[in-house]
Amino acid sequence: MANMQPSSKITIVGSGVFGISTALWLARSGYHDVTVLDMQATASTAYDPSSGIDSASADLNKIIRFSYDSEVEYQRLATEAAEMWNEWNRDIAASPEDGLPERLRGGDRRLWWNAGLLRISCKSEFSDFELRTLENMESEGIRDFQFKSNDEQDLQRAKERGWAHKLDPCRRQERLGVHKAVLDSTAGFVYAYKSCAWAQHLAVKAGVKMVLGPERGKVTGVSSRDNHPVVSTADGCEHVVDLVVVAGGGWTPSLVPEVRDLLETTAGSVVTVQLPKDRNDLWDKFAPENFPVVTWGMKQDKEVYSFPRDENGVIKIGWRKTKWTNFDEVKGRRISVPKTAHVTEQKETRIPKPALDGIKEYISEILPELVPLGISSTKLCWYTDSIDNSFVIDFVPGRPGIAVCSGGSGHGFKFLPILMREVVKILEGKSQDTVYGQMWKWRSSTSPTRNGLEQAGGRGDGPSVLSKQVMASEADWKFGY
Ligand SMILES: Cc1cc2nc3c(=O)[nH]c(=O)nc-3n(C[C@H](O)[C@H](O)[C@H](O)COP(=O)(O)OP(=O)(O)OC[C@H]3O[C@@H](n4cnc5c(N)ncnc54)[C@H](O)[C@@H]3O)c2cc1C
Repeated sequence: MANMQPSSKITIVGSGVFGISTALWLARSGYHDVTVLDMQATASTAYDPSSGIDSASADLNKIIRFSYDSEVEYQRLATEAAEMWNEWNRDIAASPEDGLPERLRGGDRRLWWNAGLLRISCKSEFSDFELRTLENMESEGIRDFQFKSNDEQDLQRAKERGWAHKLDPCRRQERLGVHKAVLDSTAGFVYAYKSCAWAQHLAVKAGVKMVLGPERGKVTGVSSRDNHPVVSTADGCEHVVDLVVVAGGGWTPSLVPEVRDLLETTAGSVVTVQLPKDRNDLWDKFAPENFPVVTWGMKQDKEVYSFPRDENGVIKIGWRKTKWTNFDEVKGRRISVPKTAHVTEQKETRIPKPALDGIKEYISEILPELVPLGISSTKLCWYTDSIDNSFVIDFVPGRPGIAVCSGGSGHGFKFLPILMREVVKILEGKSQDTVYGQMWKWRSSTSPTRNGLEQAGGRGDGPSVLSKQVMASEADWKFGY
């Protein structure tokens, strides 16, 4: 734990969701010497993935959901985050053009879209998980916002509340004779890169210093001297600080190897489909006003999700059935590290063929209008998974003044506006007093399966290892019929 004073010199490594949110909350809590280092130019590119930025946060869009099965603590935090997403939408709408970061000017200003989330079963019955989720919502008093496709009362309520058009937008009942789905009218998505750009804009306004780029911004090591953390950067400088918070996303385990038994870096597979400019029918159909976020066959062996189109006509589709690992030798340890399109030494723009095949199956079955268009791009997007899917936000045992803030485990984005309110309490040494401090503390797993971590087997030779996969080529982007 660090002895935190308003004048404490605080360095945060990483300007993704976990880093930038921490910086914003620290600055707003009265700490006035907060610096964020990032090896990527997240300010000038506004985190736009089409501008060559690689991180989990620098993405087109992310799902916002408030249903968390029985994990009520996350459900409550997500509900609080929702109020702040609404507030951010209102603030941006009311802001004069020159009061916004450049990439938020013009175009669609809304960050958070309550477009709904349609959870489609890939079988003729609902999964047990879905039925349990609905039961849970009943007991939490939020079942009313869910519309089940085969429940007359739900259908009536969906009509009255203006959601009926999103219950079967793919006409599955008519095309396939079966459609088992639940529409969650509380959920939707956010534009991820715009949201991070807004958070960074707020952080800078609150006094946070940003040092970005592959020399001054890139951290090459975090060590200790005289009980103080020392941050080394690629320009050869050493920065002695009072507190360093490592929020390096998928790079966190290579910066702080002690965390490797708690966190593992894995990749999800993502594609985009570009709608042609002259296809007004498709632009209308897939607009967020008309089309929800869709998940298909979750916990049923399909695990695909898609978003409505964005303002440029791009539809993003993801596959999460297998998360890929990429082990390398880091400081004498086998650690899974990102392999991305732009920032890592070894570049990768492809995804494994099973992932592309799974997405093509989804398009054929759920979005057949997109079949003639084919796939427009592919990428690996790197998660930082924890042993129990809960975040890891705590001081590193035995390393004074060095904390880790990571482990988003595929669900961290929605908390961008609120997450670090809790983190500041942890950094101030109050984690014993808070629910989240206890949930996110440094821990070890009692479960032998450890949330599938090390599925790769012996750290590097198991079935999800990226180097063992057949990668899809551009020729595979077309549909064969
Ligand atoms: C495929 C996928 C889908 C997801 N879907 C959702 C969703 O639908 N809803 C949701 O809520 N969440 C979702 N998530 C989770 C969410 O995106 C993450 O929890 C969150 O973005 C993680 O943010 P981060 O700051 O930890 O990491 P990142 O966003 O990866 O940021 C890490 C930053 O650290 C910097 N960095 C790394 N190493 C160094 C270094 N040595 N020196 C300087 N800088 C460094 C990087 O450049 C980067 O900018 C998803 C994640 C993935 C991968």
